[in-house]
Amino acid sequence: NSLRIAFVGLGNMGGPMAINLVKAGHEVYGVDLSETALQRHKEAGGKCAESIPEAVKDADVVITMLPAGKHVRAVYTGDEGVLTHAERGTLLIDSSTIDVDTARDVAGEAVASGMHIVDAPVSGGAVGAQAGTLTFMVGGPAEAVERARPLLDVMGKSVVHAGDAGAGQAAKICNNMLLAISMIGTCEAFVLAEKLGLDAAKLFEVASTSSGQCWSLTSYCPVPGPVPTSPANNDYKPGFAAEMMLKDLGLARQAAESFGAATPMGHRAAELYEQFCNQDAEKRDFSAIIHFLRQTG
Ligand code: NAD
Repeated sequence: NSLRIAFVGLGNMGGPMAINLVKAGHEVYGVDLSETALQRHKEAGGKCAESIPEAVKDADVVITMLPAGKHVRAVYTGDEGVLTHAERGTLLIDSSTIDVDTARDVAGEAVASGMHIVDAPVSGGAVGAQAGTLTFMVGGPAEAVERARPLLDVMGKSVVHAGDAGAGQAAKICNNMLLAISMIGTCEAFVLAEKLGLDAAKLFEVASTSSGQCWSLTSYCPVPGPVPTSPANNDYKPGFAAEMMLKDLGLARQAAESFGAATPMGHRAAELYEQFCNQDAEKRDFSAIIHFLRQTG
Protein backbone atom coordinates (compact mmCIF):
# COMPACT_ATOMS: atom_id res chain seq x y z
CA ASN A 1 0.00 0.00 0.00
CA SER A 2 1.10 3.49 -0.82
CA LEU A 3 2.67 5.50 2.01
CA ARG A 4 3.29 9.18 2.40
CA ILE A 5 7.03 9.56 2.89
CA ALA A 6 9.12 12.66 3.69
CA PHE A 7 12.66 12.22 2.34
CA VAL A 8 15.28 14.70 3.61
CA GLY A 9 18.63 14.77 1.76
CA LEU A 10 18.39 14.04 -1.96
CA GLY A 11 22.13 13.83 -2.69
CA ASN A 12 24.17 11.16 -4.47
CA MET A 13 22.61 8.46 -2.30
CA GLY A 14 19.29 9.93 -1.14
CA GLY A 15 18.29 11.11 -4.63
CA PRO A 16 18.18 7.66 -6.25
CA MET A 17 16.85 5.99 -3.07
CA ALA A 18 13.89 8.39 -3.04
CA ILE A 19 13.24 7.74 -6.73
CA ASN A 20 13.09 3.98 -6.10
CA LEU A 21 10.38 4.65 -3.51
CA VAL A 22 8.47 6.78 -6.05
CA LYS A 23 8.74 3.93 -8.58
CA ALA A 24 7.33 1.54 -5.97
CA GLY A 25 4.18 3.70 -5.81
CA HIS A 26 4.80 5.81 -2.70
CA GLU A 27 4.10 9.51 -2.38
CA VAL A 28 7.56 10.93 -1.65
CA TYR A 29 7.95 14.55 -0.48
CA GLY A 30 11.59 15.51 -1.00
CA VAL A 31 13.43 18.19 1.00
CA ASP A 32 16.92 19.44 0.19
CA LEU A 33 18.93 22.65 0.35
CA SER A 34 19.88 22.19 -3.32
CA GLU A 35 17.44 23.33 -6.01
CA THR A 36 19.08 20.97 -8.51
CA ALA A 37 18.44 17.98 -6.25
CA LEU A 38 14.78 18.99 -5.83
CA GLN A 39 14.39 19.47 -9.57
CA ARG A 40 15.75 15.98 -10.26
CA HIS A 41 13.34 14.53 -7.73
CA LYS A 42 10.40 16.31 -9.34
CA GLU A 43 11.37 15.17 -12.83
CA ALA A 44 11.38 11.56 -11.61
CA GLY A 45 7.81 11.88 -10.32
CA GLY A 46 8.49 12.93 -6.72
CA LYS A 47 6.87 15.83 -4.87
CA CYS A 48 8.83 18.68 -3.32
CA ALA A 49 8.32 20.40 0.01
CA GLU A 50 9.56 23.87 0.94
CA SER A 51 10.50 22.93 4.49
CA ILE A 52 10.79 20.03 6.91
CA PRO A 53 7.59 20.94 8.81
CA GLU A 54 5.67 20.93 5.51
CA ALA A 55 7.18 17.60 4.40
CA VAL A 56 6.69 15.71 7.66
CA LYS A 57 3.18 16.92 8.45
CA ASP A 58 0.87 13.93 7.78
CA ALA A 59 3.82 11.74 6.73
CA ASP A 60 3.69 8.04 7.65
CA VAL A 61 7.46 7.75 7.40
CA VAL A 62 10.41 10.17 7.45
CA ILE A 63 13.70 9.08 5.85
CA THR A 64 16.93 11.10 6.15
CA MET A 65 20.12 10.70 4.08
CA LEU A 66 22.42 13.51 5.25
CA PRO A 67 26.19 14.07 5.26
CA ALA A 68 27.08 13.83 8.98
CA GLY A 69 25.90 13.77 12.61
CA LYS A 70 25.50 17.54 12.96
CA HIS A 71 23.09 17.65 10.01
CA VAL A 72 21.10 14.74 11.41
CA ARG A 73 20.86 16.40 14.84
CA ALA A 74 19.73 19.69 13.29
CA VAL A 75 17.14 18.10 11.01
CA TYR A 76 15.58 16.03 13.81
CA THR A 77 15.90 18.19 16.93
CA GLY A 78 15.86 21.82 15.74
CA ASP A 79 12.81 24.09 16.23
CA GLU A 80 11.86 23.45 12.61
CA GLY A 81 12.86 19.81 12.99
CA VAL A 82 11.21 16.44 12.45
CA LEU A 83 10.57 15.65 16.14
CA THR A 84 8.59 18.85 16.68
CA HIS A 85 6.51 18.63 13.53
CA ALA A 86 5.87 14.94 12.76
CA GLU A 87 2.81 13.18 14.21
CA ARG A 88 3.41 10.91 17.19
CA GLY A 89 3.90 7.33 16.01
CA THR A 90 5.65 8.32 12.79
CA LEU A 91 8.39 5.91 11.68
CA LEU A 92 11.78 7.64 11.31
CA ILE A 93 14.63 6.03 9.34
CA ASP A 94 18.07 7.67 9.35
CA SER A 95 20.26 6.14 6.64
CA SER A 96 23.13 8.65 6.95
CA THR A 97 26.50 7.31 8.13
CA ILE A 98 27.08 9.15 11.43
CA ASP A 99 28.71 8.74 14.83
CA VAL A 100 27.19 6.27 17.28
CA ASP A 101 26.78 8.90 20.04
CA THR A 102 24.63 11.18 17.88
CA ALA A 103 22.63 8.21 16.57
CA ARG A 104 21.82 7.13 20.15
CA ASP A 105 21.06 10.68 21.34
CA VAL A 106 18.68 11.37 18.47
CA ALA A 107 17.03 7.97 18.93
CA GLY A 108 16.48 8.74 22.62
CA GLU A 109 14.89 12.10 21.85
CA ALA A 110 12.75 10.59 19.13
CA VAL A 111 11.39 7.89 21.44
CA ALA A 112 10.70 10.56 24.10
CA SER A 113 8.68 12.43 21.45
CA GLY A 114 6.59 9.33 20.77
CA MET A 115 8.24 8.33 17.51
CA HIS A 116 9.55 4.99 16.24
CA ILE A 117 13.12 5.28 14.97
CA VAL A 118 15.84 3.14 13.41
CA ASP A 119 19.37 3.94 12.31
CA ALA A 120 19.89 2.25 8.94
CA PRO A 121 23.21 3.17 7.31
CA VAL A 122 24.03 1.52 4.01
CA SER A 123 26.82 0.04 2.00
CA GLY A 124 26.74 -0.30 -1.76
CA GLY A 125 27.45 3.26 -2.91
CA ALA A 126 25.66 5.38 -5.48
CA VAL A 127 25.51 2.44 -7.91
CA GLY A 128 23.71 0.33 -5.30
CA ALA A 129 21.40 3.25 -4.47
CA GLN A 130 20.36 3.52 -8.12
CA ALA A 131 19.96 -0.21 -8.65
CA GLY A 132 18.10 -0.70 -5.35
CA THR A 133 20.73 -3.20 -4.18
CA LEU A 134 22.01 -1.51 -1.01
CA THR A 135 22.76 -3.40 2.19
CA PHE A 136 21.11 -1.86 5.26
CA MET A 137 22.61 -2.31 8.74
CA VAL A 138 19.80 -1.51 11.11
CA GLY A 139 19.67 -0.56 14.79
CA GLY A 140 16.48 -0.14 16.81
CA PRO A 141 13.60 -2.05 18.42
CA ALA A 142 12.32 -5.09 16.47
CA GLU A 143 8.84 -3.58 15.84
CA ALA A 144 10.34 -0.44 14.28
CA VAL A 145 12.72 -2.54 12.17
CA GLU A 146 9.85 -4.70 10.92
CA ARG A 147 7.87 -1.58 10.04
CA ALA A 148 10.85 -0.21 8.11
CA ARG A 149 11.69 -3.48 6.35
CA PRO A 150 9.28 -3.25 3.37
CA LEU A 151 10.69 0.18 2.48
CA LEU A 152 14.29 -0.92 3.00
CA ASP A 153 13.55 -3.89 0.72
CA VAL A 154 12.54 -1.43 -2.03
CA MET A 155 15.86 0.43 -1.73
CA GLY A 156 18.13 -2.52 -1.00
CA LYS A 157 18.69 -6.24 -1.37
CA SER A 158 19.68 -7.10 2.16
CA VAL A 159 18.64 -5.90 5.60
CA VAL A 160 20.52 -6.94 8.74
CA HIS A 161 19.00 -6.12 12.14
CA ALA A 162 22.22 -5.46 14.07
CA GLY A 163 20.78 -4.65 17.50
CA ASP A 164 19.45 -1.68 19.49
CA ALA A 165 19.67 2.02 18.62
CA GLY A 166 23.08 2.85 17.15
CA ALA A 167 23.93 -0.77 16.32
CA GLY A 168 23.55 -0.13 12.58
CA GLN A 169 26.13 2.67 12.77
CA ALA A 170 28.37 0.50 14.94
CA ALA A 171 28.26 -2.36 12.39
CA LYS A 172 29.03 0.00 9.53
CA ILE A 173 32.09 1.66 11.12
CA CYS A 174 33.53 -1.60 12.49
CA ASN A 175 33.25 -3.19 9.02
CA ASN A 176 34.79 -0.22 7.26
CA MET A 177 37.66 0.07 9.73
CA LEU A 178 38.45 -3.60 9.09
CA LEU A 179 38.21 -2.98 5.35
CA ALA A 180 40.68 -0.06 5.51
CA ILE A 181 43.18 -2.10 7.51
CA SER A 182 42.89 -5.12 5.20
CA MET A 183 43.27 -2.91 2.11
CA ILE A 184 46.43 -1.28 3.44
CA GLY A 185 47.78 -4.72 4.41
CA THR A 186 47.03 -6.08 0.95
CA CYS A 187 48.75 -3.09 -0.69
CA GLU A 188 51.79 -3.49 1.56
CA ALA A 189 52.12 -7.14 0.51
CA PHE A 190 52.08 -6.19 -3.19
CA VAL A 191 54.60 -3.36 -2.64
CA LEU A 192 56.96 -5.68 -0.75
CA ALA A 193 56.57 -8.33 -3.45
CA GLU A 194 57.58 -5.77 -6.10
CA LYS A 195 60.76 -4.93 -4.17
CA LEU A 196 61.52 -8.64 -3.79
CA GLY A 197 61.04 -9.24 -7.51
CA LEU A 198 58.01 -11.46 -6.92
CA ASP A 199 55.40 -11.29 -9.68
CA ALA A 200 52.07 -9.74 -8.51
CA ALA A 201 50.10 -12.49 -10.26
CA LYS A 202 52.06 -15.12 -8.34
CA LEU A 203 51.48 -13.38 -5.00
CA PHE A 204 47.77 -13.27 -5.86
CA GLU A 205 47.75 -16.98 -6.78
CA VAL A 206 49.32 -17.93 -3.47
CA ALA A 207 47.61 -15.48 -1.08
CA SER A 208 44.12 -15.85 -2.57
CA THR A 209 44.18 -19.55 -1.77
CA SER A 210 45.99 -19.40 1.55
CA SER A 211 45.82 -17.63 4.89
CA GLY A 212 46.32 -14.10 3.51
CA GLN A 213 42.98 -14.33 1.69
CA CYS A 214 40.60 -11.40 2.23
CA TRP A 215 37.98 -9.33 0.33
CA SER A 216 40.47 -6.53 -0.41
CA LEU A 217 42.59 -9.10 -2.24
CA THR A 218 40.10 -11.36 -3.97
CA SER A 219 37.23 -8.95 -4.79
CA TYR A 220 38.96 -5.59 -4.89
CA CYS A 221 42.57 -6.35 -5.77
CA PRO A 222 44.63 -3.08 -5.62
CA VAL A 223 46.89 -4.05 -8.56
CA PRO A 224 45.53 -4.39 -12.10
CA GLY A 225 45.19 -7.89 -13.54
CA PRO A 226 44.13 -10.55 -11.06
CA VAL A 227 40.55 -9.29 -10.48
CA PRO A 228 39.34 -7.67 -13.74
CA THR A 229 36.41 -5.83 -12.09
CA SER A 230 38.52 -4.08 -9.43
CA PRO A 231 39.02 -0.27 -9.73
CA ALA A 232 42.77 -0.84 -10.27
CA ASN A 233 41.83 -1.88 -13.82
CA ASN A 234 39.91 1.35 -14.37
CA ASP A 235 42.55 3.91 -13.42
CA TYR A 236 41.42 3.68 -9.76
CA LYS A 237 38.15 5.52 -10.38
CA PRO A 238 35.78 4.91 -7.44
CA GLY A 239 34.34 2.53 -6.43
CA PHE A 240 34.61 3.78 -2.93
CA ALA A 241 36.37 7.14 -2.76
CA ALA A 242 39.31 7.60 -0.37
CA GLU A 243 37.58 10.62 1.25
CA MET A 244 34.59 8.43 2.17
CA MET A 245 36.90 5.90 3.76
CA LEU A 246 38.62 8.70 5.67
CA LYS A 247 35.26 9.90 6.96
CA ASP A 248 34.33 6.41 8.19
CA LEU A 249 37.75 5.94 9.83
CA GLY A 250 37.19 9.25 11.63
CA LEU A 251 33.90 7.90 13.00
CA ALA A 252 35.63 4.67 14.07
CA ARG A 253 38.36 6.64 15.83
CA GLN A 254 35.81 8.84 17.58
CA ALA A 255 33.87 5.75 18.72
CA ALA A 256 37.04 4.02 19.92
CA GLU A 257 37.99 7.08 22.00
CA SER A 258 34.51 7.62 23.30
CA PHE A 259 33.99 3.96 24.31
CA GLY A 260 37.60 3.13 25.29
CA ALA A 261 38.54 0.53 22.64
CA ALA A 262 42.16 -0.02 21.56
CA THR A 263 42.28 0.28 17.77
CA PRO A 264 45.93 1.02 16.95
CA MET A 265 45.66 -0.29 13.39
CA GLY A 266 42.46 1.65 12.75
CA HIS A 267 44.21 4.75 14.07
CA ARG A 268 47.19 4.22 11.76
CA ALA A 269 44.88 3.51 8.80
CA ALA A 270 43.17 6.86 9.42
CA GLU A 271 46.55 8.63 9.44
CA LEU A 272 47.60 7.00 6.17
CA TYR A 273 44.28 7.77 4.45
CA GLU A 274 44.52 11.36 5.66
CA GLN A 275 48.02 11.75 4.17
CA PHE A 276 46.86 10.10 0.97
CA CYS A 277 43.80 12.37 0.67
CA ASN A 278 46.00 15.43 1.27
CA GLN A 279 47.84 14.61 -1.94
CA ASP A 280 44.78 15.56 -4.00
CA ALA A 281 43.80 11.90 -4.05
CA GLU A 282 40.55 12.16 -2.09
CA LYS A 283 38.38 11.45 -5.13
CA ARG A 284 40.35 8.33 -6.15
CA ASP A 285 39.29 4.85 -5.18
CA PHE A 286 40.53 3.88 -1.70
CA SER A 287 42.61 1.02 -3.19
CA ALA A 288 44.80 3.66 -4.92
CA ILE A 289 46.56 4.05 -1.57
CA ILE A 290 48.99 1.50 -3.03
CA HIS A 291 50.59 4.39 -4.99
CA PHE A 292 51.10 6.32 -1.76
CA LEU A 293 52.74 3.30 -0.09
CA ARG A 294 55.02 2.74 -3.11
CA GLN A 295 56.16 6.31 -3.10
CA THR A 296 56.83 6.52 0.65
CA GLY A 297 59.17 3.47 0.47
P1 NAD B 1 25.58 14.15 -0.59
O1 NAD B 1 26.43 15.24 -0.06
O2 NAD B 1 25.59 13.83 -2.04
O3 NAD B 1 24.03 14.39 -0.16
C1 NAD B 1 23.64 14.98 1.04
C2 NAD B 1 22.43 15.87 0.72
O4 NAD B 1 21.90 16.38 1.94
C3 NAD B 1 22.81 17.08 -0.14
O5 NAD B 1 21.99 17.09 -1.30
C4 NAD B 1 22.55 18.28 0.79
O6 NAD B 1 22.08 19.42 0.09
C5 NAD B 1 21.48 17.71 1.70
N1 NAD B 1 21.37 18.41 2.98
C6 NAD B 1 22.36 18.74 3.86
N2 NAD B 1 21.84 19.37 4.93
C7 NAD B 1 20.51 19.45 4.74
C8 NAD B 1 19.42 20.00 5.49
N3 NAD B 1 19.63 20.61 6.66
N4 NAD B 1 18.18 19.90 4.99
C9 NAD B 1 17.96 19.30 3.78
N5 NAD B 1 18.94 18.76 3.03
C10 NAD B 1 20.20 18.84 3.50
O7 NAD B 1 26.00 12.84 0.26
P2 NAD B 1 25.74 11.30 -0.14
O8 NAD B 1 26.88 10.79 -0.94
O9 NAD B 1 24.35 11.16 -0.64
O10 NAD B 1 25.88 10.61 1.30
C11 NAD B 1 24.86 10.69 2.30
C12 NAD B 1 25.25 9.80 3.46
O11 NAD B 1 25.40 8.46 3.01
C13 NAD B 1 26.58 10.19 4.12
O12 NAD B 1 26.45 10.03 5.51
C14 NAD B 1 27.56 9.18 3.53
O13 NAD B 1 28.65 8.91 4.39
C15 NAD B 1 26.68 7.95 3.38
N6 NAD B 1 27.13 6.99 2.37
C16 NAD B 1 27.52 7.43 1.14
C17 NAD B 1 27.95 6.51 0.19
C18 NAD B 1 28.40 6.97 -1.17
O14 NAD B 1 29.00 6.16 -1.89
N7 NAD B 1 28.11 8.19 -1.59
C19 NAD B 1 27.96 5.13 0.49
C20 NAD B 1 27.51 4.71 1.73
C21 NAD B 1 27.10 5.66 2.67
